[in-house]
Amino acid sequence: MTRSLYDLSAADLVALVAEAGEPAYRARQLADWLDRRRIVDPLAMTDLPGHFRGWLAERFAGSGLALERHQTGDGGWTHKFLFALPSGDRVESVLMFYPPAPDVDGADDWEPGGKTGRATLCISTQAGCAMGCTFCATGQFGFTRNLSAGEVTEQVARVWAMLPELRPAGGAPDHLTNVVFMGMGEPFANPGATWATAWRLHQGFGLSARALTISTVGLVPGIQRAASEPLAVRLAVSIHAADDELRDRLVPLNRTWPIAALLDAVRAYVRSTRRRVSFEYALIHGVNDGVDQAERLGRLLAPLRVPGSGGHAAHVNLIPYNPTPATGLEAPSRTSVRCFRDTIGAHGVPVSVRANRGVGIDAACGQLRTAAGRTGRTPAATAALPVPHPAPEGGS
Ligand code: SAH
Ligand code: SF4
Repeated sequence: MTRSLYDLSAADLVALVAEAGEPAYRARQLADWLDRRRIVDPLAMTDLPGHFRGWLAERFAGSGLALERHQTGDGGWTHKFLFALPSGDRVESVLMFYPPAPDVDGADDWEPGGKTGRATLCISTQAGCAMGCTFCATGQFGFTRNLSAGEVTEQVARVWAMLPELRPAGGAPDHLTNVVFMGMGEPFANPGATWATAWRLHQGFGLSARALTISTVGLVPGIQRAASEPLAVRLAVSIHAADDELRDRLVPLNRTWPIAALLDAVRAYVRSTRRRVSFEYALIHGVNDGVDQAERLGRLLAPLRVPGSGGHAAHVNLIPYNPTPATGLEAPSRTSVRCFRDTIGAHGVPVSVRANRGVGIDAACGQLRTAAGRTGRTPAATAALPVPHPAPEGGS
């Protein structure tokens, strides 16, 4: 069965229209609905004749994403969607609205809001994840399967179509402004679907490359591909520790590509794209939130520069840990977040603290998993939970 209408190629659409006995130009109309108008429901394709719409709806009944649950948090500024796939798997997408922030001088690239407000959708690329990061709910849940490119793209189309009704008051945009590949799964472990989606969101849906961010746990071949891909999307690297001993325990993949190899790949990416890279760092109480780690991280990233301009190539994004029941790990104290941020800043590296969104609806970072979903293979590495070190002075 076709997983999603978005999995049909241009040639498939031509064949489909012929099968329905419709004139050939209908293939173009269909493509137009799917891409330029971002509509996947055949019944909503109003310039197609009624009988053809009905035929399509019947032909593709049961394919694509079925919205199973929609939860609202942060007073309407955050929305979590649970989609069921025809295979029985489930994935989640999270929509975050940001109001305009006209006072932010020069609105930093990584700063949510900007001058016009933002609507950012976080999408999933896999059902579960095989990377087994010890602090991540998705990682603990295990891996089930890769999503098809159509299933990744359809998350964007489905939410985009709902967006006008979901807008909170206060000048939030009525269209998606950004898409981040930061939901369930490791995008570079599913590179075909990830890049096909990125290209389609750019060429079909009309989002600029800089409106797209791919977040990776550090799959070096994936970063190498990003460096040579002609679509210059933004790259976020989840680093979480500044030395291999600690990172090995948090991110099992570090044993394959340790920090030095990861930074080599990032340096090559920066050289060829001249883009800055965001380093994501989930601050976990007593595990990686000490000033010693901040010092090391500052020393590690300060030398990363954009060739030519000489500006810092690294931006550190601190994410206060969202506790998930399976891990027993805790959020950092406000004091340790501040100290960590200031220590990085003292090295001259741009740093921000990500506001916690969607906590009340389990839509915060790393909480994306579904109790109802099929349990995947649980990676052996998840048994190795990090050993907490004592909190820094002034902590909690
Ligand atoms: N697999 C990719 C993208 C999905 S995870 C990656 O790891 O980058 C998205 C981000 O959320 C990553 O930076 C991840 O480390 C972070 N994260 C996971 N669990 C978290 C938690 N419980 N609290 C805060 N951040 C978390
Ligand atoms: Fe997978 Fe990212 Fe979670 Fe690691 S942090 S288990 S790579 S989703």
